[in-house]
Amino acid sequence: MTKHETAPAIGADAPVLQANPGAGYRQLKGPIDAAVARVLESGHYILGGEGAAFETEFALWQGARHAVGCANGTDALALILRALGVGAGASVVTVSHTAVASVAAIEMAGATAAMVDIEPDYFTMDPEDLRALLERPPAGLPPIRAVIPVHLYGQAANLEAILPICAQFDVAVIEDCSQAHGALYKGKKVGGFGVAAAFSLYPTKNLAALGDAGIVATDDDALAARIASLRQYGWRERYVSQDVGVNSRLDEIQAAILRVKLRHLDEHNARRGAIARQYDGALQGGSVRAPARRPEASHVFHQYVVRSGERDALQTRLKSQGIGAGIHYPVPVHRQAAYLGRIAMGPGRCLATEAAAGHILSLPIYPELTEAEVARVSAALRRVG
Ligand SMILES: *Cc1c(COP(=O)(O)O)cnc(C)c1O
Repeated sequence: MTKHETAPAIGADAPVLQANPGAGYRQLKGPIDAAVARVLESGHYILGGEGAAFETEFALWQGARHAVGCANGTDALALILRALGVGAGASVVTVSHTAVASVAAIEMAGATAAMVDIEPDYFTMDPEDLRALLERPPAGLPPIRAVIPVHLYGQAANLEAILPICAQFDVAVIEDCSQAHGALYKGKKVGGFGVAAAFSLYPTKNLAALGDAGIVATDDDALAARIASLRQYGWRERYVSQDVGVNSRLDEIQAAILRVKLRHLDEHNARRGAIARQYDGALQGGSVRAPARRPEASHVFHQYVVRSGERDALQTRLKSQGIGAGIHYPVPVHRQAAYLGRIAMGPGRCLATEAAAGHILSLPIYPELTEAEVARVSAALRRVG
C-alpha cells in the first residue's frame, strides 16, 4: 500500500471531487496543526519570522534571488506592475484564456489590458498574435510596456518565441506562474525568465495555503525592495510612506502552513505527473484528447484538461458516475460582461480562445487522490471511449 491509499476512508461511492483542498490539509494535518499552534502562541501574526522564513525558503526552492510574500496572486501581479511603474498611460498584454485575475491585476495597477490569442494545442499565448499586436497596436491603445504570459494548467508558455519578441519591442516580461509552481522550460523553472514572476498560493494551487496568499519572485534587488515596500503602504521605515502603497501582506499563519506545504511540493508535482500518465493511458485510442505536452517543457498538471467535441455530454456522463469535472474557463475574459467590447485584441481576434472554451474539461488531479479514485476516473474514461 502506498501512502496515497492511507487517506481517511471514503465510501466506494463517494464522489471524486474535481478539487479537494481539505484532503491537502488532512494529509499534512500533524505538521500543519503544529505550525498554526506555533504562530498562535507566538503572538506575532503579520509579517514576522514565519513570513520571512517562507520567503527565504521559497526563493531557494525557486532559484530566485528574492521572494516577497503578499496577500494573493492577483496582488502579486499588480504589485510587480506598480513597482515597474506600469500604470495609467500604459498597456499590458496578456491572454483571454486565463483566470480573470490576470486581467483584473492589470486594471488594478491602473494600466490598460490588451489580449492576444492562444496556441490551440497548448492553451498558452500565441507568439505570432503577440508580435502582430506589438507591430501594429490599435489606434488609441496606450503604449505597451509589459507582457504577461500565463503558464496555464501547469505547462510553460512558448517562452522561446515570446522572449525575443518582447526584447525586440523593449517590453517587460512578467510571468504568471499561478498554475505552474515547479514547471520547467528547457530544464529551468518557470518564473526565472522575465523581470519578475507572480505566484498565487490559493488553496487549490500546486503550492496551496489554507486561505489567500501570493508571492513574487525576482532576481532584481531594487524591484524586490520596491515590492516589499509597496505591499505595506509604501513604507521603508515604520509609519512613514515613501511611496503610495497598498496593504497586501502575507499573514504568519498562512506562511507557516506554506512552509510545511513547500517541503512536499516536488513530491506532490511528481504525483500529479503519475496520475496524468494513468489518464493518458485510459484515453489512448478514444475520441477524447489528452493534453498536449510541449517537448521542451515539463508539465506540473495544475489541471489535466482534455478536449472533446461533446464536452457537455462528457461532463454529464462523468458526473453520473460520481466524477467531478470542471471547465477552466467557460467564458473567455473578453466575453465577460465586465470586459465586453472594451478590450483591445490582437489580429487573431482570440478565435482559438473562443474555440477552446467550448471543448475543454478539467478532470480531478491532485496529489491526495487515492489509487482507487484514479482507477475509477480511468475506468470511466475508458468506458467513454
Ligand atoms: C489563481 C490565479 C491567479 C490569481 O490568484 P489569486 O490568489 O486568486 O488572486 C492569477 N492568475 C492565474 C493564472 C491563476 O490561476
